[in-house]
Amino acid sequence: MSTLNPQRTIAELKELRALTGDPEGAQRVAFTRTWLIGREFLRSKVADLPLEIHNDAAGNTWFTLRGESEKALLIGGHFDSVPNGGWLDGCLNVLAGVEILRRINAQYSGKPPVTVRLVDWADEEGARFGKSLFGSSACSGNLDMAEARGLVDRNGIKLPDALREVGIDFERVKDNGKELANAAAYLELHIEQGPVLLDLGLPLGAVLGTFGVERHAITFHGQAAHSGSTPMNRRKDAFLAAARMSQEIYKIAARSGNGVCTIGSCTTKPGIVTSVVEECRLTLDQRHLDSPALAQMFQEARAASEQFAAEGNVKVSWERLWQIAPRPFHDELIALCDESIRETCGQSHKLPSGPLHDAAEVARAGVPTVMMFVQSLHGISHNKIEDTKEEHLELCVTAFDKLAEKAMRWIQK
Ligand SMILES: [Zn+2]
Repeated sequence: MSTLNPQRTIAELKELRALTGDPEGAQRVAFTRTWLIGREFLRSKVADLPLEIHNDAAGNTWFTLRGESEKALLIGGHFDSVPNGGWLDGCLNVLAGVEILRRINAQYSGKPPVTVRLVDWADEEGARFGKSLFGSSACSGNLDMAEARGLVDRNGIKLPDALREVGIDFERVKDNGKELANAAAYLELHIEQGPVLLDLGLPLGAVLGTFGVERHAITFHGQAAHSGSTPMNRRKDAFLAAARMSQEIYKIAARSGNGVCTIGSCTTKPGIVTSVVEECRLTLDQRHLDSPALAQMFQEARAASEQFAAEGNVKVSWERLWQIAPRPFHDELIALCDESIRETCGQSHKLPSGPLHDAAEVARAGVPTVMMFVQSLHGISHNKIEDTKEEHLELCVTAFDKLAEKAMRWIQK
């Protein structure tokens, strides 16, 4: 008696694209008019379901279908996009959630065994103020209020002022922590945004958790010297040591198993063609799903930098830019997710998530959490060419619905 209609989800995604996108892509940047138009569209899609709907103190919208038990199954996503974003990032999760609410409502005549809540998180992307996971980090209690209070957009508008425009009182945003009081499980579907499932030729994967991140600036300090008069063996070349780091991070990542390391920027001083480099600053971003492995990658990078500095007769200093611990998801929910995928398309794969997601904040708040990924074509996101095969979109709605049903039974136990 399932009324699940994954084709309808695809049709609604296209409707949303026509309503809130342009030739450059999706334009639902959080707290803008287009975002609000998108959210009105979302409300119109659930108008005939018996849901309680409200916005919480941080602007997240909650759609609640009351069940026999107060214990709640949460399904989450985000309607906001980056400027010129793709047509699936975030909104696939929400619209698939709508379809699942329709199915559950029909199957249980409006009263499922547990309460089911869909949440549309506000400003997951952080496109305007440069800080992602706004709504979910307020909810988990981890939003840094002092930092957020000072955030400014390109036009000099402060975050609290932008929030007031859409009726949100910044000083009260964390009041929404109470929304998680009865949360027994949290599920999030998302496009992979990377090439792993594509390379394996698989439509769907169960996500093990989100990577922890160690982000540092590494500065090598040498000595500027004339490029003509200084013999090679007399140089204190800061760039030479930095260049050796560039190769070393590939070895460090390879030794770590599933970790990744990126040198994203390199700046030199004095930065002129006729001088040996006096100072070279690199940024190093390291990510791993396993805490000890991440710590090991960081230690190895540090040791390598000291060795290359000593060999090159230069000095090195480190500065931590940012850090977040790995956020492993719930083992039993990962198993249910894996099972739902196998039942839907025969084969599954377990993989970590490189990008952060709202699910990481919910997991951090102590709610058992899992994510499901669907293959991304081109392995690309945050771009208008972001795409997923329609047959895979259908499969992901079907598998995610199975997961929701299994999670309801799991909560009841
Ligand atoms: Zn997203």
